Amino acid sequence: MGKIYLYNTLKRKISPFAPLEKKSVKMYACGPTVYNFAHIGNLRTYIFEDILKRTLLYNGLRVLHVMNITDVGHLTSDSDFGEDKMQKAARRESQPATAETVMQIAQKYTAAFLKDIANLNIITPDKLTKATDHIVEMIELNQIIQKNGYAYETSSALYFDTRKLKEYGELARVNFDAMQKTARAETDPEKKNQSDFALWFKTVGKHENHVLRWDSPWGTGFPGWHIECSAMSIKHLGKRFDIHCGGIDHIPVHHTNERAQNIAAMGGPVVNFWCHGEFLVIGKSEKMAKSGENFITLNTLIKKGFNPLSYRYMALLTHYRKPLQFTWEGLEASQNASNNFYDQFLSLEGDGGINKNYQQKFLKAVNDDLNIPRALALAWDLLKDKKINSGDKKATILKFDEVFGLKLSETRKIEIPKEIMELAAKRDFLRQEKKWDDADDLRKQVEERGFKIKDTDSGFEVTKE
Ligand code: AMP
Ligand code: ZN
Repeated sequence: MGKIYLYNTLKRKISPFAPLEKKSVKMYACGPTVYNFAHIGNLRTYIFEDILKRTLLYNGLRVLHVMNITDVGHLTSDSDFGEDKMQKAARRESQPATAETVMQIAQKYTAAFLKDIANLNIITPDKLTKATDHIVEMIELNQIIQKNGYAYETSSALYFDTRKLKEYGELARVNFDAMQKTARAETDPEKKNQSDFALWFKTVGKHENHVLRWDSPWGTGFPGWHIECSAMSIKHLGKRFDIHCGGIDHIPVHHTNERAQNIAAMGGPVVNFWCHGEFLVIGKSEKMAKSGENFITLNTLIKKGFNPLSYRYMALLTHYRKPLQFTWEGLEASQNASNNFYDQFLSLEGDGGINKNYQQKFLKAVNDDLNIPRALALAWDLLKDKKINSGDKKATILKFDEVFGLKLSETRKIEIPKEIMELAAKRDFLRQEKKWDDADDLRKQVEERGFKIKDTDSGFEVTKE
């Protein structure tokens, strides 16, 4: 194990990281709100978290990784405005919003999410915790916050009183007064401060028709989004844990509010390191958003004949704290580069040992706030290094792949032409649409050209017959 350095958003600097408990890291990542497919921007964040976890494992640490699945309480605005995203999705998919249809939506998109992360070779979190399974814990935590004097009840909600907590805004580095100035389209006149947020919504007024609802000391209702993550992380990782991560959009509201709840309930900070991944952007700076028109899913890439791992490769090329600019040309270039990487790896022969010099440099790069672009460049240097024998190169690169996660050990020599991948992807899509005859036609076309399609849990595989 080397010395690990990570950027802690709270401190706004890179600091040495050591687990709170010897050799065992407890890590929480904000997971998807399962009202739609994840887009490749969301997936970039999950790749960053996977790289972080793989780096910790590479250093010989154990990692307990918990991720939530939000299936209630996340409103269309992170700051408590609008409607529950799940309920809106049930209507979007032309169903009346009932508890049953909302849960069906949750199941559908949770399954799609799991398929996406499998396709990207992201190690499945040790625990995937559903918000609706933790209502009791959320109510209990809200009660503690209220008992400790940080909450007040109105006719529509139980609110967190942000003025009561001097640390509020520390994570976002914004002072309390500045936080009150943000223009809000919708506001509750009973709120004491603009930045106060709901710990519990009552099913009255605008939330009268909310379908998922539970009894609570504040009346029938449903939890706020932020309390979900505090309750689930504390339940599964304890009152003090190592790392909390997510995308940068979570810094000003979601994580700021989570941190406030944690301090109010536990009397001090719960999280040691806050780590955030930068956005994937389209063009120069346009953020990819689930509600936007520029929404690209992993399935779209697969349907266009791209190997999902070439998207992973693309993500590895940009440091996680820099915006990743997505273009189709860039993806094409990454696919070519990763194919080249696989080819070079496959041309290595013989057995060998790990090269100490490269191994040390690699460890230094990944431990330097996850400098994966440098680690990847090092892998290329090693491939080209004439002084190292083929067997040693192979063993060393395979070891590096424990962090890259490019599935080098499963790579076979046969190249599947892009047209064949496109046909297979189209067939998979037709199957999902239940157009069985058309799907069969495409299977035949693939087979006539000497390839075979095998359906797997995470999608499909094409092999040479
Ligand atoms: P959501 O399902 O919307 O709650 O988001 C899931 C994760 O994706 C969160 O960690 C977000 O911070 C992150 N995220 C959202 N949009 C982007 C983006 N354009 N690029 C990278 N990460 C994002
Ligand atoms: Zn969260």
